[in-house]
Amino acid sequence: MIRLEKKSAIDGLDWLYPPICEICGLGLSGGKALCKPCAENLPRITPPFCDVCGEHFHGLIDSFFDCPNCKELSFHFEFARAAMDRSESTLDLVHRLKYGKEIYLGAELGRLACRAFADRRLAVALEEKWPLVPVPLHRSRQMERQFNQAEEIARIIAMETGLPMLRLLKRVRRTETQTRLSRKQRMDNLRGAFALQHAIPENSPPGYLIVDDVFTTGSTVDECAKVLRKAGAGRVAVLTVMRG
Ligand SMILES: [Zn+2]
Ligand SMILES: [Zn+2]
Repeated sequence: MIRLEKKSAIDGLDWLYPPICEICGLGLSGGKALCKPCAENLPRITPPFCDVCGEHFHGLIDSFFDCPNCKELSFHFEFARAAMDRSESTLDLVHRLKYGKEIYLGAELGRLACRAFADRRLAVALEEKWPLVPVPLHRSRQMERQFNQAEEIARIIAMETGLPMLRLLKRVRRTETQTRLSRKQRMDNLRGAFALQHAIPENSPPGYLIVDDVFTTGSTVDECAKVLRKAGAGRVAVLTVMRG
């Protein structure tokens, strides 16, 4: 006689997605996409790093430090913190989520992003329950892709931390892909691309945490931060999976 046992939702995912580590191919269970050693081996950003853009540096720095690049810039957010340093493996996971539509990788990338909370500057966000605001896609792009990777990542961070996720922004202009553009070109490309989805509530939280997959020049999240600040957001910081 065959007995059917009730399986958990997580076990059910093993049936949908091949339960092997996305990096080394080792068999997995429990709805994970990376085995523990591979997840641990992905390079993360540890001190010292730029206190503004999160770029990782080598050496000994024990006071406030902004990198040569940030010294010449001013952003609308206080600081950006990426959990992971740039690496082919992490970027590959991001690309497979975004362009390969391997949406289950959003959970893994969200969990990786949570490592950024080791940063003491983010303790206040946890204490004061700052909402997570995913960088929006333009409606037409989201219809093509069928999901927004930043939102998938933010959803997992929300689950892991208990912070609320708030779709506070919308993209009002579809912008061309930024990969090959300089910082100046990116800024021009993005100007006026975002707007509030709805007004910031009267008794708004003290701060907001913008969530995206990769921080490269910071022009996308800066444009988002600008909209939030203009609408009256007190403090704005940025959290991304990777520093590009
Ligand atoms: Zn592995
Ligand atoms: Zn910097």
